[in-house]
Amino acid sequence: MHVKPDEEPPRSAPERIILIVEDNELNLKLVNDILEFQGYEIVATGLGGAALKLARRHRPGLILLDMQLPDISGLDVAQQLKGDEQTRMIPIIGVTAFAMSGDERKVLDSGCDFYLAKPLKIIDLLELVKRIIGGNPS
Ligand code: MN
Repeated sequence: MHVKPDEEPPRSAPERIILIVEDNELNLKLVNDILEFQGYEIVATGLGGAALKLARRHRPGLILLDMQLPDISGLDVAQQLKGDEQTRMIPIIGVTAFAMSGDERKVLDSGCDFYLAKPLKIIDLLELVKRIIGGNPS
């Protein structure tokens, strides 16, 4: 199907932007590279406080949120994002290293829409991301 250039969504359309909140630099680089390779635009931070500001500024199509952050917990970040009219519609994937039972419930109760356990399985991550905001735009 022919698509006129002016009907093509810009690559930086907000829904193509993913905000990654992850304080572990190696994990961040891994996920960043994988999602960038898939054609998504990445905004990233290792701090929960910065995540709230970045979410308001960029209006990403998805937030990947680590639950263990150095400043405020991911649970608090999710609660604040879902309590803010500017950011409450943004889907959040909560990511936690805890393998304890009940963790998933806590993460979802905080306002996260989805849950993934660390270590992240790349196939699961990509499948979920594509389900939430669609596949490769290119
Ligand atoms: Mn962490």
